[in-house]
Amino acid sequence: FTDIHEQKIKEQQKDEFLSIASHEMKTPLTSAKAYLQLLELTLDNKDEKIALYAKKASLSVNRLNELISELLDVSKIQYGKLSYNIDFFNFDEMIDNTVQDIQYSSPKHTILKSGNTKELIRGDKDRLQQVVINLLTNAIKYSPEAANVYITLSQQNDEVMVAVKDSGIGIPQQHLKKIFERYYRVEEHAVEFQGLGIGLYISCEIIERHKGRLWVESELGKGSTFYFTLPINNI
Ligand code: ADP
Repeated sequence: FTDIHEQKIKEQQKDEFLSIASHEMKTPLTSAKAYLQLLELTLDNKDEKIALYAKKASLSVNRLNELISELLDVSKIQYGKLSYNIDFFNFDEMIDNTVQDIQYSSPKHTILKSGNTKELIRGDKDRLQQVVINLLTNAIKYSPEAANVYITLSQQNDEVMVAVKDSGIGIPQQHLKKIFERYYRVEEHAVEFQGLGIGLYISCEIIERHKGRLWVESELGKGSTFYFTLPINNI
C-alpha cells in the first residue's frame, strides 16, 4: 500500500511540475515566435543566408511550441479541463488538408490516401486533426526506411473509420495496449526514436470524447496500422 501511495504522490508531483513548467515556458516562447515572424517579414531577400537562418529558427520554435502545447494538453486532461469546440465539419476536407500539410513537411515519405466518407462530422475539427497529425507523424517517424505511408478512409453504417498504415519498425505484442498510456514508450526503440510518449495518450482521450475507438495492429519489424472510428452524428 505504502509503495503505491508513494508512487501516486510522485506522479502527482511530476504532473504538477510539468503543468507549471509548460505554462511558464509558453509566454516567452509565444513572444519569441512573434519576433521571429516579424524578423522574417522585415528581411528583404538580399541576404539569403540570414533569411534561411531565420526560417530554421522559426521552424524550431514552432516545434518547441507544439511540444509545450502537448504537455499543456496532458495536464488539462489530468485536471479535466481539455476544452472542445463541437461543430459540424467536412471530414474528408480536414483529412486532405492534414495530409497536404504533413506531406509538405515530410518530403522523404509519400503519403498515399485512399477512400472517402463524404460526411459532415459533428466534433472538434482541430482536436481530431491533432489525432490525424499524430498518427501520420508517428507512421513517418517509425518507418525511416520506407518510401510510403498510407491513410485510408471508409464508412460503415453510422461510423467513419480512418486507418493509418506504415511498413516500419512495428511494435512488440506485449506493448500494444500500453502505448496509449501517459508517458509510455517502447523501451527497445526509445533511444533511436525521440519523443515524449504523450501523443497517443492525448489522441485516445480525444477519440473517446467523440465516442469513437482507437486501436492498433502491429507486427514487429513489419509495420503498424492505427485505426480510429467516429460516430457520424452522435456526440
Ligand atoms: P512518442 O512517439 O512521442 O514516443 P506516442 O504517444 O505518439 O509518443 O507513442 C507512444 C509509443 O508508441 C512510441 O514511443 C513508440 O514506441 C510507439 N509507437 C507509436 N506509433 C508507432 C508506430 N507507427 N510504429 C511503431 N511504434 C509506434
